[in-house]
Amino acid sequence: MKNKLIIAGPCSAETEEQVMETLEKIATLGKVNMLRAGIWKPRTRPGSFEGVGAIGLKWLINAGKKVNLPVITEVANKDHVALALNAGFKNLWIGARTTVNPFAIQEIADSLQGRDIDLLLIKNPINPDLQLWIGAIERCKKAGVKNIGVIHRGFSAFKTNKYRNEPLWEIPLMLKEKFPDIQLICDPSHICGRRDTLEEVSQKAMDLEYDGLMIETHREPDVAWSDAKQQITPKRLGEMLDHIIMRQKISTNPESSAKIEVFREQLESMDHQILEILSKRMAVAQKIGEIKKENNITILQSERWKLVKDERLKYGLNIGLTEKFLTRYLNALHQESIRHQTKVMN
Ligand code: PEP
Ligand code: MN
Repeated sequence: MKNKLIIAGPCSAETEEQVMETLEKIATLGKVNMLRAGIWKPRTRPGSFEGVGAIGLKWLINAGKKVNLPVITEVANKDHVALALNAGFKNLWIGARTTVNPFAIQEIADSLQGRDIDLLLIKNPINPDLQLWIGAIERCKKAGVKNIGVIHRGFSAFKTNKYRNEPLWEIPLMLKEKFPDIQLICDPSHICGRRDTLEEVSQKAMDLEYDGLMIETHREPDVAWSDAKQQITPKRLGEMLDHIIMRQKISTNPESSAKIEVFREQLESMDHQILEILSKRMAVAQKIGEIKKENNITILQSERWKLVKDERLKYGLNIGLTEKFLTRYLNALHQESIRHQTKVMN
């Protein structure tokens, strides 16, 4: 995992001993390059553990000094920033519940102006809003914060099945397109919300060329004061990091490079064919639009569309396409047809 930023540590600092023991065990693995713990915990509902507060800052600083690794903690307002910087923190992260709030982000950005920090990591907002995430980066950049990275921790949904927070991988990848040089870190712990799927999500992040991982790790996960279900032991963290396969960006084997090139050319040609067919399909939709116009028929015919959608969905599923893709594709196709028909009508 060289060249990757691997951050690990408990969800929350609980006691001085818990911080020291957990972080020492993690450091001993020799595979982690930054240590985390939450001191102030933004909890969705009152009554659960809200963090030990400022007293925990020095526990983390002392543990970091002892094992000779940098430490990072979460800040959610200007007081947190002042306290953390005074305690000696050089690395900070902004949590998902803070990124949603431009006032809070602006306050943190202002309080970082002119301060010397090594790294600021901004988690995605809890709702799938790319613009809010971009806005937070822009506010911090404007305040002169130099080294800004982002953490992808998934997006909350009313109903979830496999994940605690839906990954929606396309959102962080769109962010990376806008800021190609930004460090993109995956937080599989908050995406998964459970232990058994952490490894596959971490592997996926590495395959998507993420720059690092943040994994919640606790000396005794089952009795953790927050996020017990998703935390793992330092030992398990070590095994997991050993299992993750680091694939190269470019193949060093000329034979396989040549093979990939041949397939890529095939893909290009197929993509062009798909686009040509789509364009022809829109021409047909436009013809229907003309008939609808002449006969004063509405564009949208929901009953008919429902039948078409069901039929296409079945067809697609039969030939191995996923329901998720087909649903998105069919909706996009329908909208594009409506756009073309509307053009004819008006
Ligand atoms: C955390 O990292 O413990 C945390 C509170 O995460 P998030 O902001 O992603 O919910
Ligand atoms: Mn947590």
